[in-house]
Amino acid sequence: MMKIRYFDNAATTKVKPEVLDEMLPYLKEDYGNPSSLYSIGRNSKKAIEEARKKVAKLINCNPNEIYFTGCGSESDNMAIKGIAYANQKKGKHIITSSIEHPAVLHTCKTLEKQGFRVTYLKVNKQGFISLEDLRNSIRDDTILITIMFANNEIGTIEPIEMISKIAKMYNIIFHTDSVQACGNIPIDVKKMGIDSLSLSGHKLYAPKGIGALYVKSGIQFEKFMDGGHQEKDKRAGTENVAGIVALGKACELANNNLKEHMAHLKELRDYYIKQIKEKIPEAILNGDIENRLPGNSNFSFPSIDGEELLFLLDAKGICASSGSACTSGSSKPSHVLSNIGLSDELASKALRVTFGEDNTKEDVDYLVDSLCEIIKK
Ligand SMILES: *Cc1c(COP(=O)(O)O)cnc(C)c1O
Repeated sequence: MMKIRYFDNAATTKVKPEVLDEMLPYLKEDYGNPSSLYSIGRNSKKAIEEARKKVAKLINCNPNEIYFTGCGSESDNMAIKGIAYANQKKGKHIITSSIEHPAVLHTCKTLEKQGFRVTYLKVNKQGFISLEDLRNSIRDDTILITIMFANNEIGTIEPIEMISKIAKMYNIIFHTDSVQACGNIPIDVKKMGIDSLSLSGHKLYAPKGIGALYVKSGIQFEKFMDGGHQEKDKRAGTENVAGIVALGKACELANNNLKEHMAHLKELRDYYIKQIKEKIPEAILNGDIENRLPGNSNFSFPSIDGEELLFLLDAKGICASSGSACTSGSSKPSHVLSNIGLSDELASKALRVTFGEDNTKEDVDYLVDSLCEIIKK
């Protein structure tokens, strides 16, 4: 069997062995419903509360400000719709950016159909929103600003602290989709003035199907689903105990190893970028070089179509991603790459390579050699 070299850690990550070990007992022995009163139910309940503390610690909030959800998309929906509905008496205007993940963009579109007004801030060539545009788009009826912490395609890290300062000045709630940032860069919601934040397990070495939402205490938001009274009556449904335990462990590990993890990813990324610039000089780096997620790279290779490139890389055991949202066969260019000013043509020639903790320099060498070989042909 061919060795798989995985460079798509922005799409999902492999579950860490320590995370798997931690969650398995809650599928095997302590499978009780956390709302039940007997011992295996109580054990589940206790494990959830331990996990809540660990998630809270990663972003420096109070454990009672964490709500477990089914995924990052659910967290985004729950935050944006929940805050919008609960605060609509004050106004119905929301500000977001044009390069958000669909979980935010489509949620905003739905709210527009329900009478909310949404401003989609443009971004510059590197993918940054303009703080001046942000200030100018604030109205008397603006109730929510939702801007992603870091972009999933080009890795651009938005000026979160500045955005939160502006939001505070106008008494507007600030939510951030930090699914890509959590576990990859330091986040401190208190210091950064963040009111609400989404994160997802499978982007930080926990399984798919578990997410979390932070909402600062005192902020009004409506519950997302009707049903039981789980998660302080904000998210009905029997808790995904094993998933929650896994997310807690993944957050704990991320918190303990953040510096080393960042340094490792950054070293691989910079090594890759340097070699591509030397060996394939016509390649164009998309995004910013400074304020960029440590594990993210995104190049357009003018001489080859992105999908074809992915296909040829796959034949060499390499997993990467194109910049376009063509996962389902529709090859519409990515809205992110279009919004940073790339032509449809260059957008269709993008290759996103996102590094993870298991990657080595030898993997990068193999990737670079493969790219050179394919592109020279
Ligand atoms: C992956 C991702 C999401 C969605 O998370 P899921 O857990 O897959 O629903 C949302 N926002 C960003 C920026 C992401 O990268």
